[in-house]
Amino acid sequence: MEALQKIAKEALASKEAAFIIGYARVPGSQKTRPFIARDEAEAGQLVFDEYCQNNLAVYLTRIARPKEGKMGIVAKSCDVRAIVALLQENQIKRNEVYIIGVNCSGVVEDPAQPLSKENLAGKCNMCQAPQPAGTDTVVGEAKPYERADDKVGKLLAQLDSLSPQERFAFWEAEFEKCVKCYACRQACPLCYCEQCIADKSQPRWIESSASVRGNFAWNMIRAFHLAGRCIGCGECSRACPADIPLMLLNRKMGMIAMKEFNYRHGSNMDDPTLVGSYNNSDRNDFIM
Ligand code: SF4
Ligand code: SF4
Ligand code: SF4
Repeated sequence: MEALQKIAKEALASKEAAFIIGYARVPGSQKTRPFIARDEAEAGQLVFDEYCQNNLAVYLTRIARPKEGKMGIVAKSCDVRAIVALLQENQIKRNEVYIIGVNCSGVVEDPAQPLSKENLAGKCNMCQAPQPAGTDTVVGEAKPYERADDKVGKLLAQLDSLSPQERFAFWEAEFEKCVKCYACRQACPLCYCEQCIADKSQPRWIESSASVRGNFAWNMIRAFHLAGRCIGCGECSRACPADIPLMLLNRKMGMIAMKEFNYRHGSNMDDPTLVGSYNNSDRNDFIM
């Protein structure tokens, strides 16, 4: 934490960064919350540990761009993937961000409990690289951590073994729980449209009230809008108050993008996006 605070203070003092988007401790608790440090004193409040669950990249498209200096951000490896995806989608430019990468040893699933194999965020079981790459600087030490079974992968395999009718019934029952709070959208770094299709009223594409038909439309449209773009940070699932297993949808979409197009979004800022590129070897047998 000292190294992180030192780097943040230096970046603010030198005006390399106008502010640093990071984490601060919730008073009286081990939990953390997103925090924007705008001067050296505030940089002294920055923390990083296994309770830093949020993907802070979501703020890069929502915060006002500074007139001078870059947007500084503290980023785990999975958060860096979201930043790279935003670069690929031309939502930010590389010279607008100062990325302080943090070596990560996993984050908790439940912030009320200590980190353990049983209390490890689902995404950390599958993490391919806890050490961030392509950042302006890196702090901390990456320690090996004990991983648990891939529960999402197991559930997906179970879903895949069902008939289409049974799968439909599964999702119908899950989406029925949706209360249309849009927390999934607000937590997602790749849901940055200035006007979401869910908020359009002329024409209204999606019923605004929580109803079986409207819930289904909302969740399916959101999944399609994230197809080939979701970077699997799990923030939508974590934000959902109805505990809808949105990661099953996201992960499946990512698996299809990999299988059909050998594509993983957020891997390389110079790569074109999946939907924004065409390769002669792409499958086209599904086009009538
Ligand atoms: S997915 Fe990897 S980088 Fe992200 S919190 Fe888990 S271990 Fe850290
Ligand atoms: S896991 Fe959810 S929040 Fe994260 S990028 Fe994918 S859709 Fe967005
Ligand atoms: S966070 Fe959950 S309940 Fe809220 S709109 Fe998204 S899916 Fe529905």
